[in-house]
Formats: sequence, structure tokens, C-alpha cells
Amino acid sequence: MTDQTYKPTVLVVDDEPQILASIHALLEDDFDVVVSTDAMEAVELLKNTQIAVILADQRMPNLTGGEFLSKARELCDATRILITGYVDIDALIRAVNDGQIHSYVPKPWEPANLKVTVLKAATYAKEISQRKKAAEIVAEQQEALARSEAAYREQTKILRSVLDSMGDGVLVTDDSGKMVLLNPAVEQMLGRSAAGTHQSEWAERYGIYVPGTDTLYPNDKLPLARAMRGETADGIELYVRNQHKPDGMLVSVNVRPLKDDSGETKGGVAVVRDITLAKYSEDILRQAKEEAERANRAKSEFLSRMSHELRTPLNSILGFAQLLALADLAAQHQSNVQQILKGGYHLLELINEVLDLARVEAGRLSLSPEPVLISDAVKEALDLVRPIASAQNIMLSADFFAYADRYVHADRQRLKQVLLNLLSNAIKFNRSNGMVVLRCEQVLNGRLRIEIADTGSGIDDEGLKKIFTPFERLAADRNAIGGTGLGLALSKRMVEAMGGTIGVESTVGVGSRFYFELSLVEQAVEPRMDRDFHSGLMALGQAASYQGTILYIEDNISNIRLIEQILARYPGVRLLEAMRGKLGLELANTHRPDWILLDLHLPDMGGEEVLRTLRQDQRTQEIPVSVLSADATPSQANRLKAAGAREYLTKPLDVRQIIALLEKTLQRERPENQPGASGPSFPEQHGHQPDAALRWAPETVTLTGLPAELLQQLRSAVRDGEKDRLDELIATVANQDPQSGRALKNLADRYEYDTLSNLLSEVAQ
Ligand code: ADP
Repeated sequence: MTDQTYKPTVLVVDDEPQILASIHALLEDDFDVVVSTDAMEAVELLKNTQIAVILADQRMPNLTGGEFLSKARELCDATRILITGYVDIDALIRAVNDGQIHSYVPKPWEPANLKVTVLKAATYAKEISQRKKAAEIVAEQQEALARSEAAYREQTKILRSVLDSMGDGVLVTDDSGKMVLLNPAVEQMLGRSAAGTHQSEWAERYGIYVPGTDTLYPNDKLPLARAMRGETADGIELYVRNQHKPDGMLVSVNVRPLKDDSGETKGGVAVVRDITLAKYSEDILRQAKEEAERANRAKSEFLSRMSHELRTPLNSILGFAQLLALADLAAQHQSNVQQILKGGYHLLELINEVLDLARVEAGRLSLSPEPVLISDAVKEALDLVRPIASAQNIMLSADFFAYADRYVHADRQRLKQVLLNLLSNAIKFNRSNGMVVLRCEQVLNGRLRIEIADTGSGIDDEGLKKIFTPFERLAADRNAIGGTGLGLALSKRMVEAMGGTIGVESTVGVGSRFYFELSLVEQAVEPRMDRDFHSGLMALGQAASYQGTILYIEDNISNIRLIEQILARYPGVRLLEAMRGKLGLELANTHRPDWILLDLHLPDMGGEEVLRTLRQDQRTQEIPVSVLSADATPSQANRLKAAGAREYLTKPLDVRQIIALLEKTLQRERPENQPGASGPSFPEQHGHQPDAALRWAPETVTLTGLPAELLQQLRSAVRDGEKDRLDELIATVANQDPQSGRALKNLADRYEYDTLSNLLSEVAQ
């Protein structure tokens, strides 16, 4: 409603209706006029009507005007006007004094005068009402303010108790760097008086250092200083050492800038966490982990060394026995040689299995899972066991053709190993004229079950319980049949490592059924390059037609002799020998051999380094290198292949494999060159008679210059295995010829007495 239409209400009370009518007529243009002839009735009306001005006659029958207005004053804020004659002057004075009226109109009243008085009174009433409203608003606002102050006090109290109870320190600075809030946790770190220090002195004052040093933290780089520049940072580590923390503490600090509503940085907040203990436990844990890793490395090292130490002598045993077996021996001797081979291979199997098991146990069995063609793996394994089966009159039957072109997810080598273990057990523990049946079958979850059943004596329940435990050979078989008791334990671990399962069912007197399951996969793979090494073997009698130069870098004389003997069958092949890496590199550069056989353990430098040098040198980088090592760990093999070795052959050397590689690598002579004992290119050098000068590298190991007596003493010290005496003599050699001294010391330190003895006897010749 606007001011033009709004009309204040005037209540006129008089017992004379004519007067009421005339006042109504006088005021109705400007006011809503309400009239009443009865003061008591008018009192009631005031209770529920908004009245701006009350006009009351003094003389009325029930209540006087003064009395009525006095009541009206209690009921509303209307401006009160008394209409009174001269005779009522006393009542008027009383009414004015008592504050009952704001104004009065004398009788007889002038209409204009009355109207002006009422208008003024209405304005006054309006002002009063506005003032009252304003006062109400102010009161409301004050109340709201009081309420929000109370809420704020409550919030502050909660916040304070949170900050007080927090283990993390909290500190807040304003934009001048003054600390405006520190909780008790911070006070415990920095002291109660911490608030008073200027930012440029924080590090000195509170003892804040760069962790792990005695250097004070640069003040401008302190996290809180950065927050005051608007930066946010988390996990900043500081070291605090001061009178409150004399033992020092490591803290991690998170900071945020403190911003006002306009986004301007007005200070910084830091939350400081004591991480001393956490860091300490982390350190302990790390140390324990490092210790465990060191121990694990030591174990691997031990495995590798053991593998080397055991395989090196085995290499000679098996290599020479293989050569002997190829010779034309009397039946008795042939059978002796076969015994040596059998024992040797058994030992080799044992070493391999112990190493494998140790690797599995150490979690280091390295697998290269790939899709493996079932027929490949099964056929290869069957081919290998067929001779043993027929020797024992066991019929081998296989039904895998429905799955022949399917693939399983497996490590090719390990899958073959498992198949061989199970097949050879089924043959070994069979009865004579028995049967072994291999079957394939797809089972649930896209898996293939390969089952090998035999007609052997079966395994009882006790036996079945422990059959997959290492070294567990069931009593009945212990003496009769060869074995290590490791095959099944290893097979189980390998199958499981390939994500499969293995099991057995057996009936005593009927036979056993071993099975394992692997996932079938769809993907086809390229055939492997090295698969045909063995299949391409030439008959040894045809060996003569190959020609070329082979460099053999090896410091073990037995191994050298073995290769020499193999090559004795290849008159067209020249063998260069080097017992040290450096000499090997020189020979490779000058003679550019067709094939390099490289041992890894050399006295002067590692074979791996030799390999890398060969690969880096333009003159030698194309020459195929086959690494020979007693270390059968797959990681080492992979590393050397990655470094450029064409093959990684593990000792003991497989004579047939060496021959296959030789024939793969070297060229065959043209027919016109074939007759004759030696190849035309090196008529003066017989392939298997290595040049001693080349072998001993006289330009560096010039033992010929040494006094005969010293040489003699060296020989006897070597013969008697007197290490201390040998060391003394080598020290004397080193005085006269440091290079030879070093070479001898290298050999002596590795207890290569064989080599030393050969070296010393060659000088004597
Ligand atoms: P190994 O064959 O070298 O002794 P394995 O771990 O392969 O070691 O086998 C452990 C033992 O389980 C064997 O010595 C033999 O007693 C028993 N065994 C394994 N396969 C069969 C089988 N097919 N039939 C009967 N007994 C078996």
C-alpha cells in the first residue's frame, strides 16, 4: 500500500452523536474515521484495531475522556487528543502532567484547528510507530548478534579443544609472519614463547635443520614461509633440535596459505607431524629388507658358485667319458665308460634339481610362459623317453592328437621337464612288459589335463601323502631304481608356478595315474630357432669336411683338452686358445675366427667384459660367440644373450651339442679340398695341436726369463699344493716380472694348480 492511498485511522469518542458526525465529516477525507459514543466500547475496539489518533471528549457519562485515554495509553501507541472546555481546565492539566495526552482541543473547537491538530497527531503517530519499528529491528539485530557471538564462542571452544587435543602441531601466522595461533603440540616442540620470533630467525630460534645434516634450514625456504608467499606444500621433512627437544625429532610439515575473501594471502597455516618413530621403524624395516636381500643375493651367489664348482669337474668327467664312449673300446671298457656316464649324469641331474628346488624355494625360479604347442612338448618328451621304455620292454602309447594343434600357457622348458619326470617315473616304476599311456583331455575352466598312467606296482595311501615332498623316495623303490626323490617335488612347484595343478591317483598292484592341468590358450607362436640343434647332428665320421677357425677363450685346461679332442675329428678346423680374456681379444682381432667359444671365469677379466668388448669392436662384432659357463642360472643366461652371445651353453659340455653348433657355424669344405688330413688353408697347423705360444701368451707371461731354480721351486710348491709357499714364490716372480707375477697369482688364488703345473712344465720344455 502506497502513501497516497494509505489513510491513518482516527478513533473519535464522544457521547454526543451530532458531534461525532460533524468530526467524521471533517476528517473523513484524510482519515479512516471510527466513532464511538461509549468509552467502554471504544476500549474494546482499541484491543483489535490499529488506531493512529484517538480523539476523546472529556465529558462522557461512564468514563471521563482523561480516564479513557489513560486506559488507551496502556493498550496502544495512538496519539491521544482530549477535547475539553474551559471548565475542565484542571482535568486537562492533570492529563497533560500525567502524560495521558499528547495534545488537546478546546471547546468550542474550530474545525480547521481540530483538523490541523489531528493531522499533526497522525504525523507524530507515524513517527512514533516508525521509531518503534526501528527499535524493534535494532533489538532483533542485537539478539541475532548475541546469538551468533554465542555460536562463535562455542565454535572457538570446540576448535580450541580439537587443537589442544591434537598430536600434530598446528601453527598459524599472519602476513607479517607473526604467529597468531600455536596449539600445545607445537608449543611442546618450540616452546611457549614461540609466538614472538620474526620469520627471518625461525630456524636459529627453534633449531630447525635440514634432515641428516647440521645445516640450519634456510628461513626463506621453511614451509611456513613458503605458505605465506601463497605456496602449498605437503610432506616437507625438517629436523628439529632445541632445548625442548634436545634429542631431536624429525617432522613432516604440510602448509597452506591463509587467504582472505578476496583470495589475497594473509598468512600461512602449518600442520607439523612428528615422524621420528615412523621413520625409525621404516629405517629398521628397510635395513631388515636390505639384510634379507643381501642374504638372498649371498644365497644366489652361493648357488651360482656351487653350480660352477660342481659342474666344472663334471664337465671333464662327462666330456671325456662321452669321447671315450665314441671310441672303439673293448666291451668291458665300454660298459665301464657307460657306468661313468650314468653316474655322471645322475650327479648332474641331482645338481640341476637341487639348484632348481633351491631357486623355487627362494622364489627365483624364472619362467618364460608362452603359448606352447601341445604336440611339440609331448612329442619331444616321448622321443626322449622312448629308448628307455623300449629298453625295459614297456609299451608307450599316447593319445593327444585331438589337442595336437592346441596351445597351453606354459614355460616350454619346464613343461618338458614335468612331462619327462612323469613319463620316466611311469617307465621306471613299471613292471616289465607293462604299459604307459599318455592322454590329453579338456577339463573345466578352459584347462587341459595331461594324464600319464602306468601299470606299475602303484602307491599306497601313506606313499601318496608324501609323494610330492622333496627327497621322498618310497621305501620299496629306494634301493632298486635310480632317482633323486626330487622330480615330483619339483614338478609340483613348476606346474604351480605355471598356474596349474598336479595330482595323482593310484591303486596298489594295478598302477598309478599322474596328471597335471594347464590353461589352454589360443595364440600361435613362431617356432623356436634353436629347436633343431640336436636333430641336425652329423655322423661323427663325416666331420672332416668342415673348415674354419675357432677361438676358445678358457682357462681350465681340462676343458681345453676336451675341445681339442672333439676338434681332432675336424682337420680343417684350426683351434686358437687363450687362457686369458685380454689375449682372447687380441687373437680375435688378429685372426678374425669364425666362431668364438667363451668361458666366463677368466683370470684377468670377466668373460662378460670380453663379450662386450668383442661386440663393440667393428672387427669382431659379427663373429658368433657361444658362452660356456658352469653357472646355469637363467638370469645370467638371459643377460649374456642380451649382451650379444649367440648361445649360452652350460657346463658340463654336451659333446653332441658342441658338434652340432660347430657344423651350424663353420663352412663345409668344397669337394676338391676334402681329401687329405688337414684343410688347405692351414697346412702347417693341425687343428687339434694348439700353438703353445698362443696359449700361454709369452709376450705377457714370460716365465722363460726366470731363474731355473725359482721355476723348480714353483713346480714343487704347485705339486705339493703348498699355497703359502707358492704365494711367497709368486711374490718373488712379481718382483722380477710384475705382469707374470699377477697372472700366476690369479691362477694360484683360484687354486688352478692344473693350469699352473702345465704352464710351468711348458716353460721347462
Ligand atoms: P625319483 O623318481 O627321482 O625317485 P620322484 O620325486 O620323481 O623322485 O619320485 C619320488 C618317489 O615317488 C619315487 O622314488 C617313487 O618311490 C615314487 N613314484 C614316483 N612315480 C611313481 C610311479 N609312477 N609309480 C610308483 N611310484 C612312483
